[in-house]
Amino acid sequence: MHNPASALASVYPDPRDQAILGQSPLLAQPRFGTLPELEVGAHRYLAAEDGLYLQARTHALNVCVRVSISTYPLPFGPCEEAIHLSGGLIPDSLIRDVFNRAVIASPKEYACLIMTTPVSSVYRLLEPTVFSHGVGHIDYDNRHHDPLNVALDLHTHGEGHAFFSATDDRDDLSGVHLSTVLGYCQSADTIQAITRVCIYGKFFLLNWNPW
Ligand SMILES: [Zn+2]
Repeated sequence: MHNPASALASVYPDPRDQAILGQSPLLAQPRFGTLPELEVGAHRYLAAEDGLYLQARTHALNVCVRVSISTYPLPFGPCEEAIHLSGGLIPDSLIRDVFNRAVIASPKEYACLIMTTPVSSVYRLLEPTVFSHGVGHIDYDNRHHDPLNVALDLHTHGEGHAFFSATDDRDDLSGVHLSTVLGYCQSADTIQAITRVCIYGKFFLLNWNPW
């Protein structure tokens, strides 16, 4: 949802401010009513009673994360952090399949995407064209898919530990998706996973692991 242009112009006469607020609307979370559902491909900031939240929606995900905590209760409605996958939890069988592929590729790195489609919430595995991969790097083609359909962008660090590197931060700059790194891929039993929510280059590490 975007703030109506005329309403924005009456408060923010500078067109640059209108552009910023048109791109990233800021709304107060209602205490009694409800907001219109966020459109696919949109995001908005919500001022809630305990702080500021960022909400974003794609075909694959509807996420809401708190980006700052208020030092006192604000006169707005409550908001909750949430990660909603439109296809439900990614099936364990698909995750095991990815783990097996990661083990086969180890000690080289491996990468894949788990996608949905706009009309079907069934997940499918997409292995992008790999330009080069080795122990400590993987370079793959991440262009030929609709970012709105990406539920999970996953890559491994071979036998190294799982962490988000500066390269990973650059790779996760665009779009809204979950991002997972697998480490210690010597075997399915040793694999370690970390996951974060990526919203247009802002990262929110999960303190639980969905896989
Ligand atoms: Zn990495």
